Amino acid sequence: MTNALLELEDLPPFSRIRPDHVEPAVDLVLAENQQALEALLERQGTPNWDSLMAPLDELRDRLHQVWSPVSHLNAVLNSDALRAAYNACLPKLSAHWTELGQNERLQGAVRALAESPDAVRLEPAQRKALEHNLRDFHLSGVDLPSADKARYKAIMQELAALQSKFEDNVLDATNAWTCQLETDNRLAGLPDSALSVLRQNAERRGLEGWLITLELPSYFPVMSYADDRELRHEVYQAFVTRASDQGPQAGRYDNSEIMERILALRHELAQLLGFANYAERSLATKMASGPAQVLEFLEDLAARSRPQAQREFAELEAFAREQHGIPQLEAWDVGYYTEKLRRQRYDLSQEDLRPYFPETRVLPGLFAVVERLYEVRIQPAPGADLWHPDVRFYELRDATGELRAHFYMDLYARAKKRGGAWMDEYRGRRRSVRGVQTPVAFVTCNFTPPVAGRPALFTHDEVLTLFHELGHALHHMLTRVEYYDVAGINGVEWDAVELPSQFMENWCWEREALDLISGHHETGAPVPDGLYRRMLAARNFQSAMMMARQLELALFDFRLHAEYSPHQGARVLELWRRVREQVAVVPAPAFNRFPNAFSHIFAGGYAAGYYSYKWAEVLSADAFSRFEEEGIFNPATGRDFLRCVLEVGGSRDAMASFVAFRGREPQVEPLLRHSGIAA
Ligand code: ZN
Repeated sequence: MTNALLELEDLPPFSRIRPDHVEPAVDLVLAENQQALEALLERQGTPNWDSLMAPLDELRDRLHQVWSPVSHLNAVLNSDALRAAYNACLPKLSAHWTELGQNERLQGAVRALAESPDAVRLEPAQRKALEHNLRDFHLSGVDLPSADKARYKAIMQELAALQSKFEDNVLDATNAWTCQLETDNRLAGLPDSALSVLRQNAERRGLEGWLITLELPSYFPVMSYADDRELRHEVYQAFVTRASDQGPQAGRYDNSEIMERILALRHELAQLLGFANYAERSLATKMASGPAQVLEFLEDLAARSRPQAQREFAELEAFAREQHGIPQLEAWDVGYYTEKLRRQRYDLSQEDLRPYFPETRVLPGLFAVVERLYEVRIQPAPGADLWHPDVRFYELRDATGELRAHFYMDLYARAKKRGGAWMDEYRGRRRSVRGVQTPVAFVTCNFTPPVAGRPALFTHDEVLTLFHELGHALHHMLTRVEYYDVAGINGVEWDAVELPSQFMENWCWEREALDLISGHHETGAPVPDGLYRRMLAARNFQSAMMMARQLELALFDFRLHAEYSPHQGARVLELWRRVREQVAVVPAPAFNRFPNAFSHIFAGGYAAGYYSYKWAEVLSADAFSRFEEEGIFNPATGRDFLRCVLEVGGSRDAMASFVAFRGREPQVEPLLRHSGIAA
């Protein structure tokens, strides 16, 4: 039997990858890597880079290139068979990574190389890679007594399975609830674009009428525009009770016990390694120096923005009460009256902007912005085997014509695709015996799809998301570093990873850039001046409320991991309520189970790290302030950012890269100024 995952091609043959290829391919590569590693260690006398690290990178990359397409497909084209195959591999991979991290002979060889006289002649990036390796050996438990090592491995395996189960439950709960409406009586208030999405949802399932789902292009317009308050209540309840003991599917995909178990295991893991709690363990690979610094950072921002957030919410309550006769503003009213207040105050809604952001302008415009900033060219590339007809494939070349990278874009929401937006990698930049391997990235979003033969029309928020994710991809793709551990995003402190992505969002607000990415889908007309002025005026509408929400999530996540007690358990809901009392200004009903679908921290990489968004936003706002001073398309400033931040990737500390670009350490003021928070 041929196995598409084992064909050593340049790019994954997505259309030919079958679920029954997954386990055999993973098993084979794991066994081959194991043998190759043994042989590698056997022949190390005095290790040097080419005898030890280069072949090690080769092995790790080979496994990554088999597994990456599988985990990508599991996220964007989920099926029962693929999910089963994916989950069957998780314990094997977890065991493999733990064994690699706990391999004392390998650790000894890496240490011998790092301490050898030759090490001083290595490039700084190579020395950084060795430093990361030695740190990660310790964090993988290599220095533990053997009983603890075994326990560490068992914990890692159980965590991998639990985190995957958490994500599966969220996806299943999202897919399992729909609301079919035979007439549009209850859909008054919804814009045409949203009605078309709901109609298309129904048609695709062979149903009559309109179908509301819990995917964002359906959920969000209902919450923002549906006049039917009871409908908003129902949809809100279904959404915020996903994977919990509450709501229309109470108990069916409940993540409560999984959360409890994940937190207990993370705590145990941290203590095995000598940390007081998982928050400390998390910070071992981040910019922040310790839990006290993170808490101080978040609480300082909360104190500066809370009074304004309270004023903003009081204004919304007064508006709903006085102008719409709503005596008590409920959680399912907030988005709806926010939209009405925005419209009244600024004569603007996200829907007004949609016609000006057809995909046919946004994508070429985005690429033009990138081209002007970094002197590169992005063009469609032929020949890639795609997993869905909506997917696009591009190549990126620099001014000399050198091929630097490729990327896939999968932009639209659909069933069986995980929600949200993210960047992932198929492979990174690396030098091997075959030459330099160029990076390949996946950019995944869940935007409103095209309807009725028109190009997709994006909201400005969707455009911001697209810029954000391409910012991550550029960090991955434009690196000049050629060593696996520190190329592109690899090795970058997690709380600095959002710097290049949030940084890119700034261009979406600048007239000069806006003219490149917008144009009315029928007439090609640019965003009119009046509309642009209203956009800017509305930019910071409720910004302190949004800040409060982000701080709530960050504090909740951090304290959840910092304050875990084996005697009392995680007390997830209790802690969430206490954090909300401290920072939140918007009410949450008793049935709200937001934590049960908080994949970032329970299934993704943001455990005790959600604060990274705000942390990196300080960096990105401050970095952009140099462009404000010198010109947003100033080629010298762009080149500096490329050289100081994007090209060096994880090969030096994020703080050093920031200081190299900005000429000083970061300051919080630009973020507060951009957010319109006077503090
Ligand atoms: Zn991001």
